[in-house]
Order: sequence, then structure tokens, then C-alpha cells
Amino acid sequence: MSLLVQKFGGTSVGTVERILAVARRVKAERDRGHDMVVVVSAMSGETNRLLELARGISADATAREVDVLLATGEQVTIALLSMALEAIGCPARSYTGGQVHILTDNVHGKARIVDIDGERVRQDLALGRVVVIAGFQGVDENGNITTLGRGGSDTTAVAMAAALKADECQIYTDVDGVYTTDPRVCPQARRLARITAEEMLELASLGAKVLQIRSVEFAGKYRVPLRVLSSFEDGPGTLITYEETQMEQALISGIAFSRDEAKLTVKGVPDQPGVAYRILGGVADAAINVDMIIQNIGADGTTDFTFTVPRTDYRKAREIVTKTATELHARDIQGDERIAKISVVGVGMRSHAGIASTMFQVLAREGINIQMISTSEIKISVVVEEKYLELAVRALHSAFGLDAENGSGAAA
Ligand code: ADP
Ligand code: ASP
Ligand code: MG
Repeated sequence: MSLLVQKFGGTSVGTVERILAVARRVKAERDRGHDMVVVVSAMSGETNRLLELARGISADATAREVDVLLATGEQVTIALLSMALEAIGCPARSYTGGQVHILTDNVHGKARIVDIDGERVRQDLALGRVVVIAGFQGVDENGNITTLGRGGSDTTAVAMAAALKADECQIYTDVDGVYTTDPRVCPQARRLARITAEEMLELASLGAKVLQIRSVEFAGKYRVPLRVLSSFEDGPGTLITYEETQMEQALISGIAFSRDEAKLTVKGVPDQPGVAYRILGGVADAAINVDMIIQNIGADGTTDFTFTVPRTDYRKAREIVTKTATELHARDIQGDERIAKISVVGVGMRSHAGIASTMFQVLAREGINIQMISTSEIKISVVVEEKYLELAVRALHSAFGLDAENGSGAAA
């Protein structure tokens, strides 16, 4: 008998009718003889609604209390799904993260799972029950409720699958697999039948929200068989693979983008040792992640220093940098929140030159100015003005030969 972990995202459990449909899907697998563990997200829009409530009370509510609040979203759906399963004659039990000992560190809002005790789940499975677990939440060693960061239910599912040595972890969502880029931005996007974990990790960390980054990290570490599928239509979805090389490796496997960053420039600082450290040290001390960095030397021997931070941390970063800039007698500070980062990703890039120049040529042809560039051996990222995002993604998708022939999203 095999064990499946299935995760259903917010849209998939967004209404009572959809929860009933999920219950029927789960029961059908149970009837085929599989042991079933189901992880659910909050109903779509619920986590945002709860965040708005918190903001209505205070702009700086403590992270601990925000987690207590956000965790309620998933508690609603586990109860409703278990009721739905019972109603169609399928024994089920719901559990919060804490009840199945999803132990995390104490970094509220982006906690990391450190341990899972699968014993309680195994006991229920042995009694023939479907186990329904709240995604996105855990507890720290003092019993405080924590959450795993936005999209964290994916990580709950993969971590559960690893802990229980499940035969497959299936992520059910509102698209029928992983595409060459977000199909909502580029209608020509094509579903990939398979993608390597390395490429999926890169796409996720560059903004493709179809899987949370940490879920892909977890899957890679424990080699969890992982598949992304649609809740609304049947199909094979996309399999995440772990083989090092594939027979026929596409040059570019996908294009990711992010609107979640902002840019800060400190102008006219002395070109001398220690300046980068002074500017970025304070930002790092505030636990703000800096992504891209560039430095331009001016004719007068000073330098301009530009870097990107998450948009949610922009105001805080600007305050910190304003202070340092005054100390360094900088000429000026400029900020821009309307930027977007676009990245082309592919392990095939390792053995091919010329990808960057094609990318720059396509953007030039469309009249899109590149503000920043960064590269690694399997990706090239550029920062452009946000209003050009969709145009840039579609033009690059087509130029790199990723377009589906008829735009219908047939598997690669
Ligand atoms: P869920 O609520 O099920 O977790 P998410 O909204 O988190 O769903 O993730 C699914 C969404 O990810 C899709 O609706 C799609 O817009 C977006 N997406 C971004 N990049 C991709 C991609 N490369 N392939 C498929 N979907 C993508
Ligand atoms: N409900 C959480 C969120 O909206 C977690 C998830 O959906 O995976 O981010
Ligand atoms: Mg998600």
C-alpha cells in the first residue's frame, strides 16, 4: 500500500463547493487503496484579510501575535475538509501544525521546520483515517505558534512527505503544472512535463510562486518525489526530477519575474575601502536581504552605490541608509519602488555562451532600458522599470523559443 501526501492551495479550497470537490478527490484515492495525508492552505484571500485586520489595529503588531492570527486561516479549512470527508463516508481527523509536532525555530513569520514527529499521523493512518493537516504553521520549542512564510503550505506538505517517506507529494493548485513562465502573464507559456529540482529552485527563488522556495529545498534534500497538478482538471502535471543530466537539455527552461523588490542608490560616496560595508552593514543588521548590487565610479573619483531590497523592507532600508549616507557625506539618495526583476533560467546555459547578449538584444529591440544585471551559471537577471514587465517577459519567452505552438499549453 502506498502513501500519498496531497496539498491543496487557497483557490482549491476557496469555497464550500470546492472543499467538497477536494474531499471527493481524496476519497477516490483512498478507495484505490492509498494511505492519504492531506495538507491545506487557508481559503484564498483569507491570509491577506487577516493581515489587513492586524494592520487595522497596529502598524507594528508583534510578529508572535500576527502568527497566532494567521494560523487561524488554515484551522478553518482543515476542519471543513475533515467534515466534508466524514460526510461522504471517509473517516478523517484534522490537526493543527502543533498537534502533529511540526517543530520550527522561533523566527515568527518565516520560521524554518526543524523536526516533525510523524507518529500521531501514522497511528491515524493505521486506523484507516485520512489525516488532514494545517499548512503554513508550526510551533517553536516553547509551544508558540509560528508560520513558515507566504506560500508555506507547500513546505508543510513536502516536509510531511519527507518525514513519512511518502511515495509521492502532490501539490494541487490552480494551474495544471509548472510552466515556462507564469501563464497569467504570458498566454504562450508551455507546461513542462518535467523540470529538474535545481531549475525549479532557481525559478522559485527568482519569483515563480507556483512552489515556495523552501519546499523545493526540502524536496531536493530528501529527494521527495514531487509533482504539481491542477485541482480542477485531470492530467499528469509536472514532475520535479533529481537526475543530474537529462538526455536533451533545453537551453532555457523558464522565465521568472518578481515585482517584490525596490532599488536604493547612494550617490557620490568616497571610493575607498569599507564603504560598501558601511552602507550594507546597517541594512544586514536589520535582517533585510540585499539582492543585486552595482557600483559605478564617477569621473570625480566618487562612486554611486545601488542595491535592491524586498519592497516590504524598502522604507526601513531607506531610513537606515539615509543615516549612513549623511555620515559618509554622500551627495544624494534615490529610491525606486516601481521596478521588476526578470530572469531567464536554464542549466543548459552552463555550456552555452551568448544567452546574455540575446537577452540584452531583445530588450533593446523593445526599447526597454536595463537598470541592473546579475548572472550565475544557470541564470541571468535584469532589473527594468515595472511597467515593461509583461512586454519583456513575452518578448524573451518568444525569442528563446519557449512559446507553445498554439498557445494551448501543451506539455514540453
Ligand atoms: P496556491 O494557492 O495553490 O498555492 P499559488 O498562487 O501560490 O497557488 O501558485 C500558483 C500560481 O503560480 C499560478 O496561478 C500562477 O499564476 C503562478 N505562477 C508563477 N510562475 C509560474 C510558473 N512558471 N508555472 C506555473 N504557475 C506559475
Ligand atoms: N495561507 C498562506 C498564504 O496565503 C500559506 C499558503 O497558502 O501556502 O501565504
Ligand atoms: Mg502557493
